[in-house]
Amino acid sequence: MEETAIKEAMFYEKLERNMVRCYLCSHHCRISEGKRGICGVRENINGTLYSLVYGKLIASAVDPVEKKPLFHFLPGSSAYSIATVGCNFSCLNCQNYDISQMPKPNKPIYGEEVSPEEVVEAAKRYKCESIAYTYTEPTIFFEYAYDIAKLAKKEGIKNIFVSNGYITEEALREIAPYLDANNIDLKSFSDEFYRKVCRARLEPVLNSIRLHREFNIWIEITTLVIPSLNDSEENFRKIAEFIKNLDENIPWHVSAFYPAYKLTDLPPTQIETLDKARRIGLETGLKYVYQGNVPGEGENTLCPSCGKVLIKRSGYIVLKYSVKDSECPHCGAKIDGIWR
Ligand code: SF4
Repeated sequence: MEETAIKEAMFYEKLERNMVRCYLCSHHCRISEGKRGICGVRENINGTLYSLVYGKLIASAVDPVEKKPLFHFLPGSSAYSIATVGCNFSCLNCQNYDISQMPKPNKPIYGEEVSPEEVVEAAKRYKCESIAYTYTEPTIFFEYAYDIAKLAKKEGIKNIFVSNGYITEEALREIAPYLDANNIDLKSFSDEFYRKVCRARLEPVLNSIRLHREFNIWIEITTLVIPSLNDSEENFRKIAEFIKNLDENIPWHVSAFYPAYKLTDLPPTQIETLDKARRIGLETGLKYVYQGNVPGEGENTLCPSCGKVLIKRSGYIVLKYSVKDSECPHCGAKIDGIWR
């Protein structure tokens, strides 16, 4: 592993006294000369903003698309999954904190030199139908992801973000023609939660979820349920109502928390709590509510009309798949998603 090469950033403006302001994510960092933004991977060098992570892979793997999790997007297919170091959030429960927080505040940038062409070649070699920008926050390696996504599109490979939803409208607008899907975290409906647990704000996340719909990008929403922090009925109901008001066909994943990083003093999520969240989601009118990080019936896709099991899953494995022409083969109800 080597120290990084650098590339001039997209989405920033030059200010007085060699300062810059970054507009890639909703932090809108104002960065003095010689300093980095909150993500730790964009640095002001002599009044020009640079990405420090272009072409610097810290992780790559072939994953089932179900692991993202995307349940209504080419089920059973593989996603070539990549990440660089860095993140614009600092979640206390981050499971990948060793790479997401690695470059902060001013640490060396590590990663293997891999060009966009080589990423796409690897995806083809492993017969992946998509490339997933994941593990850390893809927004912060935007320039790299954008160049890969354009090449992938030409090769008929789809592009997936797994994101905290803090991308700005101008950045999302730029990548939207190449971005097929995004699993966006809606971690809580409380701004206080976002401030205390993630060092971010709620409203920009809600805005970007709405924008993904406007730009016609397939989205699924994930809420990691953390005991005592975001597991109230009120919180579940507010999230479910927000999704329902956008579209009742958007899948909602409620996932179990396991102690990690700075939240090792909290217990894992009880299955009863996930059952409660799922019940509230369905009562609110969402058609697809899934339980994540625990095995069971909550992994399956049921027809919202006749109730038959259309996709049976175990972990990330698809055991049965019977959606046909975007419809339930039993009753003909439309099943939203990106299917074969
Ligand atoms: S991408 Fe990084 S530098 Fe840019 S606004 Fe977000 S946190 Fe700040």
